[in-house]
Amino acid sequence: MTPFAQRELTGWGRYPRQRCRVARPEKRRELVAAASDTEVPNLIARGLGRSYGDAALNDASGVLLTEKLGRFLGFDAESATLHAEGGASLADIVNTFVPRGYFLPVTPGTRFVTIGGAIACDVHGKNHHRDGCFSEHLEEFELLLASSEVLICSRTQNPAAFWATIGGMGLTGVILSAKIRLMPIQTAFVRVSYARTKNLEETLAQLTRDAATRYPVAWLDCLATGSNLGRGVAMSGDLAGVDEVSGEPLLLESGRRRAVPLDFPDFALNPRSVKAFNALYYAAHSEVQRVVSFERFFWPLDSVGGWNRIYGARGFIQYQCVLPPQTAPQGLRQLLDTVAASGRAPFLAVLKLFGEANAAPLSFPFAGYCLALDLPAAPGIVEFAQELDAITLNHGGRVYLAKDATLTPQSLRRMYPRLPEFEAVKAQLDPNWRFQSSLSKRLGIGGAA
Ligand SMILES: Cc1cc2nc3c(=O)[nH]c(=O)nc-3n(C[C@H](O)[C@H](O)[C@H](O)COP(=O)(O)OP(=O)(O)OC[C@H]3O[C@@H](n4cnc5c(N)ncnc54)[C@H](O)[C@@H]3O)c2cc1C
Repeated sequence: MTPFAQRELTGWGRYPRQRCRVARPEKRRELVAAASDTEVPNLIARGLGRSYGDAALNDASGVLLTEKLGRFLGFDAESATLHAEGGASLADIVNTFVPRGYFLPVTPGTRFVTIGGAIACDVHGKNHHRDGCFSEHLEEFELLLASSEVLICSRTQNPAAFWATIGGMGLTGVILSAKIRLMPIQTAFVRVSYARTKNLEETLAQLTRDAATRYPVAWLDCLATGSNLGRGVAMSGDLAGVDEVSGEPLLLESGRRRAVPLDFPDFALNPRSVKAFNALYYAAHSEVQRVVSFERFFWPLDSVGGWNRIYGARGFIQYQCVLPPQTAPQGLRQLLDTVAASGRAPFLAVLKLFGEANAAPLSFPFAGYCLALDLPAAPGIVEFAQELDAITLNHGGRVYLAKDATLTPQSLRRMYPRLPEFEAVKAQLDPNWRFQSSLSKRLGIGGAA
């Protein structure tokens, strides 16, 4: 029997911190036994803890680490389909398959996430408008239910469980393994064009033009105000061809990881230092085209180990929302104005383009513009995030649960009108609420509060 041990855990934002009862099974049978161990009243699976808030926490109750269950189980070269355990990381997939000419069709901004976490949050990349979410490239998965039964889920087999688990934040069961389709590539490089924009209108217009490329994204200078509000650097990328790179085309950049060894003191990130950084970044990107490595383009922050410590001991939240195209110009302006006026210096702000929503009731993306900004967890952050929620709601938007630490149950239900559909499937799969997390309790998902 895998014992549960008391341990303090956080998400990537290091806010909130909670003491959970953690088990770390190394074999599938140990995981199955731990999942039904009545020593803990309820539990939640956890991958690499890259969700920001409390999705992979369970205050005073069970957390099941899946990181040791990350083996590759098979690869079908004809269909480029990989079968791997739920704890396998996207980093392992990249390191193994890129040199062989295959890449992830969808990758989030870090590769240190597990397949289970990628499915449970239905993660998206910079190419959502064209390639959809991670689930678009998912064939099937095995789901361990509270009853210890293992369900094979696909679009045709147990489809209700399939769609509820995608974006279902671990609340339907534990994803034991999954089959995902990889995409063939010629090189491990991206051709990127950079364009500086002067204000929000220009940034949105540039992003819309860049939709013709596979990976359009814009960095925003969140401290610019007045006529410069929403200025930034739009970057649009496409996979580079063999003739565009020198040297071995499928070689990943090995680059040693620099680490942030200690928490930065709380005063290190203040409006002045952040303003200086943003001004420098803006000045450094005039209109150019470059060919850059996958690492630099897709996962720039992964090269700085533990970068989440720069926000100091209090941690930070990431506010990420999507707004429909009709209301986005006005809604984004109001969000950026509110943030700029608050003095809560966001270090990082990114704008992405989303395509149509998929069939999963809790999947986050729908067609529109997606804003993500990091905010230090200074006093009053919960109330401030809820002020932003009100603006998001007024403009028909919603926030991403993988990043959330502050939403209220009422706002959740307005943002995710298909929540009752999800709850009906959960009630069938997990009638005794075995799978719960701090997020589901905070938000009263399935009446779990
Ligand atoms: C720097 C950075 C950049 C990011 N960029 C993006 C981005 O561009 N797009 C995006 O969509 N997300 C992004 N994210 C968020 C991240 O991709 C997701 O939160 C992802 O789910 C984290 O995976 P994980 O393995 O760490 O899961 P965890 O954080 O450990 O868990 C996340 C959720 O998945 C559930 N879960 C984990 N494993 C399983 C399993 N085996 N079975 C069932 N449920 C499970 C947990 O219960 C929890 O609800 C980013 C995060 C960071 C830190």
